[in-house]
Amino acid sequence: MSNTNNPTWIHVPEDSDFPIQNIPFGIFKTAHLKPRIGTRIGDTVLDLTVLHKNDFFKAWSLDPSVFENSYLNAFISQGKSITNAIRNQIIQLFSEDAVERTLLQNLEGLTYAADEVEMLLPVQIGDYTDFYSSIEHATNVGKMFRDPNNALLPNWRHIPVGYHGRASSIVVSGTAIHRPKGQILPKDAEQPIFSQSRLMDFELEMGYIIGKTTALGSSVSVEKASEYVFGMCIFNDLTARDIQKWEYVPLGPFLGKNFGSVISPWIVTMEALETFKINGPKQEPEVLPYLQFEGAQNFDIQLEVYMQPQGAQPSRICQSNHKYLYWNIPQQLAHHTVNGCNINVGDLYASGTISGPDESSFGSLLELSWSGQKELKLQDGNTRKFIEDYDTVIMKAYAEANGIRIGFGSCNTQILPAL
Ligand code: MN
Repeated sequence: MSNTNNPTWIHVPEDSDFPIQNIPFGIFKTAHLKPRIGTRIGDTVLDLTVLHKNDFFKAWSLDPSVFENSYLNAFISQGKSITNAIRNQIIQLFSEDAVERTLLQNLEGLTYAADEVEMLLPVQIGDYTDFYSSIEHATNVGKMFRDPNNALLPNWRHIPVGYHGRASSIVVSGTAIHRPKGQILPKDAEQPIFSQSRLMDFELEMGYIIGKTTALGSSVSVEKASEYVFGMCIFNDLTARDIQKWEYVPLGPFLGKNFGSVISPWIVTMEALETFKINGPKQEPEVLPYLQFEGAQNFDIQLEVYMQPQGAQPSRICQSNHKYLYWNIPQQLAHHTVNGCNINVGDLYASGTISGPDESSFGSLLELSWSGQKELKLQDGNTRKFIEDYDTVIMKAYAEANGIRIGFGSCNTQILPAL
């Protein structure tokens, strides 16, 4: 399927993630330009500071620093009534029959080819929380790490389980990460050793950017949650399985994860994704009233992971879908804040690894290789159980229906040798 319903005067390649219906927000720079907000149509990046300077956003009387900024936070803080209006204005300006077309085509510095700009971390992330909301993933991990007969812990179907992670080591796609070192307990050993991780893994997740601040002590209900989420990105929760396995009891993830997590650079708004809502799995037993919701609250977003050894072509090793998540975005946010925990613009929370029911839809190498018992065969003849040095992990996400494809681009991470 392609973007046939694509009425813009900017060229949009077939199967682009960025038709005019998307209009995501990100931060870019060039050799000559300071960081600024951009959006993307097809393979063209648009500089929003130029649109602002030329009065195309004058209805909202915003300070230039909202757009000429290293992060989206000041923009997001304007609130959805303004950010949605600006997004709609951009859709209007770049539509096929826009009266401003000639004016815009002659604006100096408005457009850049996507491959001539550098995308930066889009959001200054204050706090980061990772959930554990895929029942298939939680079941698979429970079988391998604990007890095959009681894979899910008793609280799992009652609580959207999560933990607080480290915000400052979240980096943008394209940033290489060195293999971490730490304590691991070798098989059949009684004492740990200090070693580089031998079991480097990815976790296929989506990240959600908070768009509205709350006061300490207040809560966000399931019904109101969508007002508090600005948009989504791809999230790779890199994990050193051997470090994790030794450290995680009793307090959970720590050094097995905080050495680096990676997000895709374009934040796709919840409004662009609205038409892709779909029902999620049936929740049994019935959840407590503060977690009950109405309507379709999952999203039909196709997810893919590719493994690319150095010098080789990428091989697709996983196909999953955001719709498999047991706990949805409003439930996660309602649970996160039900005790009065505050949230701030720019906070990020992630879904947890999104695995589906089939083996080909498992969202981590831990599951795909079943803890290293199986080898994955790549197209180029290589095999993998976990990530090797110089491998690049590529994650993609897109929703597609009625000829419209709203995508996220990709989230790429190369693993370098330990320092
Ligand atoms: Mn995770």
